[in-house]
This record gives sequence, structure tokens and C-alpha cells, in this order.
Amino acid sequence: MRVGDVAIGGRKVVMMAGPCSVESPDQLLATARAVQEAGAVILRGGAFKPRTSPYSFRGLKEDGLRMLADVKRETGMPIVTEAMDTRHLDAVCAHADMIQIGSRNMQNYTLLEEVGRLRKPILLKRGLSATVEEFLFAAEYVASGGNDKIVLCERGIRTFETSTRNTLDLSAVPVLKKLSHLPVIVDPSHGTGIWWLVPLLARAAVAVGADGLLVEVHAEPGKALSDGDQSLRPDKFAAMMADLRPVALATGREI
Ligand code: PEP
Ligand code: MN
Repeated sequence: MRVGDVAIGGRKVVMMAGPCSVESPDQLLATARAVQEAGAVILRGGAFKPRTSPYSFRGLKEDGLRMLADVKRETGMPIVTEAMDTRHLDAVCAHADMIQIGSRNMQNYTLLEEVGRLRKPILLKRGLSATVEEFLFAAEYVASGGNDKIVLCERGIRTFETSTRNTLDLSAVPVLKKLSHLPVIVDPSHGTGIWWLVPLLARAAVAVGADGLLVEVHAEPGKALSDGDQSLRPDKFAAMMADLRPVALATGREI
């Protein structure tokens, strides 16, 4: 399937990268240029942010969407961004090339039905505590509306383990690929919550057959308005890309 002119599910491992949240035009453009230079082909950036605390930064909303559209014009990179609610779908659709359904909404069946009516690619993230079966039924909600442009994203699940933010279930990648025909990508940023673990789990994700990766990048992680602890600096992102190339080649892929 295609997002803009990027093919997902083919030989190439598709790198989606960018900040957790869109924070400013300069931040977004600088990050986009850096990740593009390193080999990312789709720009991620949240404008509507689901946050655990209502007092945390919840995104620039429509302004953030406009910044994403501006940076797409500058760089040519297709955009993936989250729609949290059916009320935001028109605005998100107007600017996004791919719509992210976040973990917390994986079982929001009304939202799934609405995006099933669209003909835009959907990035469906696994729910915090969803089984593989529940994840695939969520995808089925979208597909049964006629929208079969779905990419599944493993982003870690809740377990008893507390040393990482989530437990990245890499076995879900081959399991999902066996049970469905959909491309499967991995988000090692939310999957670990810890920046230095991201390149290591990215390597493992490529080795286990992921069709792509979703990675958070920030120039100054200590000042990020969300998810700084798990964000890579652009130089670390570029180093990770170089590290992933031989892994991709060893599995018959390229990145
Ligand atoms: C995100 O991608 O920034 C995000 C909020 O992801 P998730 O829904 O996986 O927590
Ligand atoms: Mn995030």
C-alpha cells in the first residue's frame, strides 16, 4: 500500500520519524529536514495529543496541523498524525496523508467506523492491553467499512514489568504477518520509553521482519513538551539508520 509515493509492505523498511508533538514551525521543519537527510520517508508529529494528565501539553491542534502541511510543502514528506476524535477527522484529513489511531483509541469503535469510511491510509496502533486478536478485530472494523489501507503498529503493551514504559511485543510482528496480509511496523519509542533502548529495539524489529519503524526525534529532548525521555537527538537517529542498514540487508530488505 502507498502513502503519497511511499510504498509500505515491500522490500524497503519504511522509516517514519519526527517529534512526538508539533511544538513550533521551526522545531518541526528542522526535525523534518534532519530525519529526511538521515533516510526517513514519512514525517510524524502529533497535533492532537492524548495525555494521561489533562494538565499536560495536549498539542497545538489545528495550528499544529497547519505547521505539518507547511513542512510537507517544504520537504515533500508525507505526513502521519493522530486523530483522537471523530470531531477532528475533517481537519486531520485535510492535512494528513495517513491518519494515526492511537493506542487509547484502538477500541473506539465509532472512530474506527468513521475512518473505515475514508479512503486514506490508517496507522492503527495496538491498544495498551489489547491481544493480537483484539488488535486484528479493530483493523477489521476499519476494513469492513471499505478502507483496506491499514498499517498495524506494535507499540508495546502493559505488563507487570516496570523497567521499561511498555513491554515491546516483538513476537506480535511475525504473528500479525502470519494472520493477516497487512503491513506491520514497530514503534520502539513508546515501546520502551527510554531513548538509548530505541536503536537496540529498532534493530530487533527490523530483524524480526517489521515493514517499518515509527521513531520520535527531538533536537533538545530535555525541553520536549511530550515524550522527551524516549526521543532521539537527530545525530543519534542518523547513527541508528546507519546501524539498521546491514540488518535490513541481512533479512533481504533495505532501509
Ligand atoms: C504517539 O505516537 O505519540 C502516541 C501517543 O502513541 P500511542 O498511541 O502508541 O501511545
Ligand atoms: Mn509520543
